[in-house]
Amino acid sequence: MRIEKTDYFDQFSCLADRCPDSCCHEWILQVDEETARFYRRLPGPLGERLREVLQEEDGDIILSPVDGKCPMWRPDGLCRIQAELGHDALCQTCRQFPRLTHDYGDFVEYGLELSCPEAARLILTTPSAPLVSREVPGGEEPAYDRQDMALLQSTRDKALSLLDDPARTVAQALSDLLRFAGQVQWDLTGGSLPEPEKCCPIDEGMAAMVDFFNGLEILTDRWRRLLSHPAPGPWREEHRRLARYLIQRYWLQAISDLELLARVKFLVAACLLLRHLGSDVIAAAQLFSKEIENDADNIDAILDAAYTHPAFHTSTLLGLLEA
Ligand code: SF4
Repeated sequence: MRIEKTDYFDQFSCLADRCPDSCCHEWILQVDEETARFYRRLPGPLGERLREVLQEEDGDIILSPVDGKCPMWRPDGLCRIQAELGHDALCQTCRQFPRLTHDYGDFVEYGLELSCPEAARLILTTPSAPLVSREVPGGEEPAYDRQDMALLQSTRDKALSLLDDPARTVAQALSDLLRFAGQVQWDLTGGSLPEPEKCCPIDEGMAAMVDFFNGLEILTDRWRRLLSHPAPGPWREEHRRLARYLIQRYWLQAISDLELLARVKFLVAACLLLRHLGSDVIAAAQLFSKEIENDADNIDAILDAAYTHPAFHTSTLLGLLEA
């Protein structure tokens, strides 16, 4: 079985009490069954506290937050469970975050999630490099269609080299990527996918895009403020690296429904939005990921918008990139 990971994957180290936006804030933490059983049997004051805050909600086991923070978060910025029992006592989510695993059966890809500030720094500052690959024993017969996967893998490589071409500006690379995804979509499904109504003049396209993001579920006031006070800046290399991260993360996921173009529209819209918001690109991208990538409803809404919202019409996106 082949294991692939981004070249910066092993460089990640949690900032713990130095983290500017800890994953212990604002999210509701789901605890896996095995860890919940361990916590429920734990003796002493920590066990008592865990039994107080472990709750069932919509079929999930959660640690119910206190003042918007994980109840195990200590004022010194450290996790009480980790401090008293060590890393292995953390639930699966906390042990893994921000590490991502995409298991396709006969190969596995590892990456980092942009919603962690330290991972965002690595993702958006590390120069482009191929995935690091090695063979290990094991693996399963894949459930995917081999021909479709072969097409997605080869076209993802092409998309990444197109994006990295120094002769293309960031905007040109994103435009070419969007056109290329349209061709690949045709090869995958034998035709193009439906486009939304084209009723949005290009000069109103960005306002329509911001409106759309304002209408999604919003977790933090910081994101709401950023959306309300955009400060458009120039294209920067961080935007190119953001696109690289999104290609690496989402391109092969089209194997589940063959909707590649919708995913590429999502990544182009993400780059356009973050350029429009301006500010510190790394901090804004991290917050974008926390708000959008970590909310399955928001991701679904964006993939739907690729077919239904005028701001996501291919010609609107190309117009905004070429403006
Ligand atoms: S967000 Fe990242 S760096 Fe910050 S505490 Fe969580 S894992 Fe560590």
